[in-house]
Amino acid sequence: MPDVSDGRSSDWPFSYTYTQLPAELWVRIDPEPVPAPTLAVWNDALAEALGIDPWAADEHTRAAVFSGRHLPPGAAPIAQAYAGHQFGHFNLLGDGRVVLLGEWLTPSGKRVDIQLKGSGRTPFSRRGDGRAALGPMLREFLVSEGMVSLGIPTTRSLAVVRTGETVWRERAHPGAVLTRVAQSHIRVGTFEWAARTEGRAETVRQLADYVIQRHFPDVANASTPYLALLQAVIARQAELVSQWLQVGFVHGVMNSDNMSIVGETLDYGPCAFMDVYHPETVFSSIDTGGRYAYANQPTMAVWNLARFAETLLPLLPPDGKETAQAALAAFNEQIQTHWLQGMGRKLGLRSLQVDDTTLIHDLLAEMAAQQADFTLTFRLLAHWLRGSAVFDPAWEGWLTRWRQRLVQQGEPLEAVAAAMDAVNPAVIPRNHHVEQVLIAAESGDLGPLYALWRALQKPFEETPENARWRQPPKPHERVTQTFCGT
Ligand code: AMP
Ligand code: MG
Repeated sequence: MPDVSDGRSSDWPFSYTYTQLPAELWVRIDPEPVPAPTLAVWNDALAEALGIDPWAADEHTRAAVFSGRHLPPGAAPIAQAYAGHQFGHFNLLGDGRVVLLGEWLTPSGKRVDIQLKGSGRTPFSRRGDGRAALGPMLREFLVSEGMVSLGIPTTRSLAVVRTGETVWRERAHPGAVLTRVAQSHIRVGTFEWAARTEGRAETVRQLADYVIQRHFPDVANASTPYLALLQAVIARQAELVSQWLQVGFVHGVMNSDNMSIVGETLDYGPCAFMDVYHPETVFSSIDTGGRYAYANQPTMAVWNLARFAETLLPLLPPDGKETAQAALAAFNEQIQTHWLQGMGRKLGLRSLQVDDTTLIHDLLAEMAAQQADFTLTFRLLAHWLRGSAVFDPAWEGWLTRWRQRLVQQGEPLEAVAAAMDAVNPAVIPRNHHVEQVLIAAESGDLGPLYALWRALQKPFEETPENARWRQPPKPHERVTQTFCGT
């Protein structure tokens, strides 16, 4: 154990298994110190789960270490190389404003990456300043932690520290560093980079072996491990994207460099939750073609997975191309199954019958026609079952069919409503609320941000305290566009 009276005096137990990989995949680099770090948010629950408190016991240490001002003893950070298809175009990228502070073993024996985002320039920065603004970092903190409470796999946020520096993004903003925690930050794009190194297939093989060992140990025993790895990664993405769809989440920038190999939601830039349901919903200001629109996300996921499969081809058996294609084709079936089951649960259906697909699609068509709020609709349906909500007469036909279907199930409707409330969130990080609390935070008032964060921790409850955060935007409050903030 460290000397808890001064966490800075003893080594932090970081490790760097990633540096066993070829040097083409990473570079050793320290964060660029910042002038005057002050802690904006600290995630106590996550700190405890990580077992990091003994080293980061006081606010001074937290601000100094998680801004990159003070490199703790035991740390030898790296930046990771990766490439990626951005809006369909291949680019060499890499951590341009991030360092991996180190890998960390949690008390339960899990290995995670601890990254500083906004930590300064690296050899991968190109024209960027290596820095991040407070607003987007707090946004990632709120939305990623909101995803955790919704039960959706995601990278997590431990801290946001103001740097005391100004960053320029069209105008001056306060600078900040986000501490991001992930199972790892290996992306589809990491494989794309590996495939273009001098080592080519050999580098890919070493990376794949590392990923198997660290994240998919079961795959090691398969008769064709690299095919099994592809299948496992595909399965994780099908599960993940289906979960996004069920809460109305639009990632916004599903470039292959932003797709985690372990199936965690990664990179919270212009992402947003829909208010009004429409399958073509796009928020990102740069997604002018709607490539990453809400309903297009499964197609884009499989597109990225095909880029992953290409990097593995040299490692696959002679019929590799066909087996990889079959694995990719299975994605659509998998996501469809997850999605139908999930939508069924959202509607209180215990098991799916043949006609349920139509019932679900008809509901969505009705929601689009009525411009219904995606999140609220499912809560209101449960209230309607209890007799405590009314719908516009236009809904009558669908509601009658649905009620008949539920009555067939033989379960009391009160119990169905309770089961629905357990899977349909009442509180999500709505854009207009997120923007409101970020504006307050930029001007120095973190109170609203903390209030929203608290509400997001119990998303399935309707209480007087969270009433404010359950409200969809009034027409003048609607946020229809989001920005990368890079
Ligand atoms: P993103 O849009 O956040 O997924 O980032 C795409 C690429 O741009 C990655 O290689 C980032 O490291 C890099 N990047 C984003 N913002 C900056 C910045 N402010 N300075 C340097 N590199 C950046
Ligand atoms: Mg990215």
